[in-house]
Amino acid sequence: MKRDIIAGNWKMNKTQAETKELIASLVPAVANANCEVVICVPFTNIEVARKAIRGTKIKLGAQNVHWAPKGAYTGEISADMLKELKVEYVIVGHSERRQYFGETDQSVNARAKAAILAGIKPIICVGETLSEREEGKTAAVVVRQTNEALEGLEKTDLKQVVIAYEPVWAIGTGKTATAQEANDTIAIIRKAVRRLYGKTVGNALRIQYGGSMNAKNAKELMSMPEIDGGLIGGASLKAEDFGAIVNYDK
Ligand code: PEP
Repeated sequence: MKRDIIAGNWKMNKTQAETKELIASLVPAVANANCEVVICVPFTNIEVARKAIRGTKIKLGAQNVHWAPKGAYTGEISADMLKELKVEYVIVGHSERRQYFGETDQSVNARAKAAILAGIKPIICVGETLSEREEGKTAAVVVRQTNEALEGLEKTDLKQVVIAYEPVWAIGTGKTATAQEANDTIAIIRKAVRRLYGKTVGNALRIQYGGSMNAKNAKELMSMPEIDGGLIGGASLKAEDFGAIVNYDK
């Protein structure tokens, strides 16, 4: 049975002291959630977060991973380094990485492969920009990004993969795709995965929606048949809001 997964993307926010504080209020807020709950924290907070979530239902995630096992890649972090810190999930190919740090479909693919090899589940982000949407390219863009991100992965690897559909124009803007729009585009992504790996794998894959998801719209988005979770930016930094989102079914 597939289980919904809601992950918080803290982005470049919170010091170690603030991390402890936020997790202390997150723990009771998410305690009764029926979905899988993940927080993706900055690298510097992973160790503090790991200790603070021990014995709770919160799982640990990071926000990026390098494709090489080690070497001359100043500023990067390897999958083995994350694994050592008990990281279970890692966001790969977030649109902010694609936009500001030159991530390409190829580097996203390489990073996802490295994560899987280390036993870390990649949350692979795909999504169209506003201009791509206005030009009617949404389906073509998300299918290309999905195909390229999964290039070379085996059927069995797909068990570890989560995809997040994040329309770029909806991230941090307060604009949300309607539940129907999000559902329809996720159906297109799932169809692309079915084409690559067959019906069973496509249907079992968890695909999240991300983009200004909040306490008010979570219930409607999560009620859509194709949507298996959420990737939450801004609202994941407020325990009350994140708590309300993960309890969307209450
Ligand atoms: C994100 O960063 O992945 C995201 C969806 O951000 P926000 O929820 O703030 O739009």
